[in-house]
Amino acid sequence: MEIDKQVTVNGLTFVPYLTRDKIAEQIKRVASEIRNDLKDSSPVFICVLNGAFMFAADLYREIGINDSVITFVKYSSYEGTSTTGKVKEVIGLKEDIEGKDVVIIEDIVDTGLTAVKMIEDLKQRNPKSVRFATLLHKPESSKTGFIPDYTAFSIPPKFIIGYGLDLDGKVRNLKDIYIIREE
Ligand code: 5GP
Repeated sequence: MEIDKQVTVNGLTFVPYLTRDKIAEQIKRVASEIRNDLKDSSPVFICVLNGAFMFAADLYREIGINDSVITFVKYSSYEGTSTTGKVKEVIGLKEDIEGKDVVIIEDIVDTGLTAVKMIEDLKQRNPKSVRFATLLHKPESSKTGFIPDYTAFSIPPKFIIGYGLDLDGKVRNLKDIYIIREE
């Protein structure tokens, strides 16, 4: 399968960073960790829209626990390529998670502000446990010290796109992950 050598969006150029094969390989690893931890439970998976939709679809199928549910929430803190620092809940959780093992599925942990806010919100609903799975983690950008329970890739603090991650709503369709080109 061909991988574009570079992608230009809104005047910014991105180069290939993580291929679809590497992504699939790491999703298998994370899925098996989650399956081992939760195979005797009836977990609730919560996909954080929009960015995590593609990762969640692949991860959830790979985990393969039939006695589980997946649902969706939406938080917002980014405009363009930088965080606004304020995290807003845009679509809230409808499911009852009381007494349940919950796994949040996120695309990327950057400052950690969204993760911390979500976990705080969810804990108000008395789940049995809350775990956090992320496709990408930028440890050097952390403003919270938050460390996800499951991480597919740790990456440097640079802007990336593709495989669900956008730039102003665009390029979520890319099958591989691209990183911003240093001039
Ligand atoms: P945090 O609250 O951890 O600072 O940011 C989390 C959210 O910021 C992610 O869910 C994602 O929407 C956005 N974000 C952070 N870094 C990147 C990046 O490199 N690329 C894209 N497309 N979004 C990012």
